[in-house]
Amino acid sequence: MKNALYMTDSYLKEFEATVESVKDGKFVVLSQTAFYPNGGGQPHDTGSMVCNGEEYLVVFVGKFRSVSHEVSKPGLKAGDKVTCKVDWGRRYRHMRMHTAAHIIDAVLYKEAGALCTGNQLGLDKSRIDFSLDVLDRDKIQKYVDMSNEWVKKAIDVKIYTLPREEALKIPGVIKLASVMPPEVSELRIVEIPDIDLQADGGTQVKNTSEIGNISLVSVENKGKNNRRMYFTLD
Ligand SMILES: [Zn+2]
Repeated sequence: MKNALYMTDSYLKEFEATVESVKDGKFVVLSQTAFYPNGGGQPHDTGSMVCNGEEYLVVFVGKFRSVSHEVSKPGLKAGDKVTCKVDWGRRYRHMRMHTAAHIIDAVLYKEAGALCTGNQLGLDKSRIDFSLDVLDRDKIQKYVDMSNEWVKKAIDVKIYTLPREEALKIPGVIKLASVMPPEVSELRIVEIPDIDLQADGGTQVKNTSEIGNISLVSVENKGKNNRRMYFTLD
């Protein structure tokens, strides 16, 4: 998506923009945005927009045809210049959770052939759903330990785009079908060298060492081959 600043710079916390449209007084589209919208298992950002000294809290961000920001009160109008601030504590924790989830997914696949069927990141804990025939908590703990070994290697995370045709030649590049709408001609690739590479639209840390320590919270059976685990970061 054009003007989605979070796609190229996950560390951008403040930016200026022009209001392009306002619907029902509080759904605001901006000329550019660093607010991450709900999607790909990563929750939306929150934060604020200031216009002429008046502060509007950003309470929800969703991606439709454009990124829509729900603000706490009416007052903004098309053409207004706004100074925006992302709630960095919330966003950064989601970034750390997101990169951690990629590492855990990759270890589950490499070690157990388990395919991730969904992730839902959270502030307190994050959820990973995967397919595996037998659920053994000790083994899952071992995979978390192995994930922490990757974290400690302090690997630089690479983000770049590839033409769709070229990207699709990479085995396993599409982890979740939802990240690749058919009209997309370029795919954004997130690569954690030696461990994971996939098309992904989320925000990620620059280096795996930023994740800190991953802790296993719980594991659950969710039907015949479906398993669920929750992890958190210390
Ligand atoms: Zn992801």
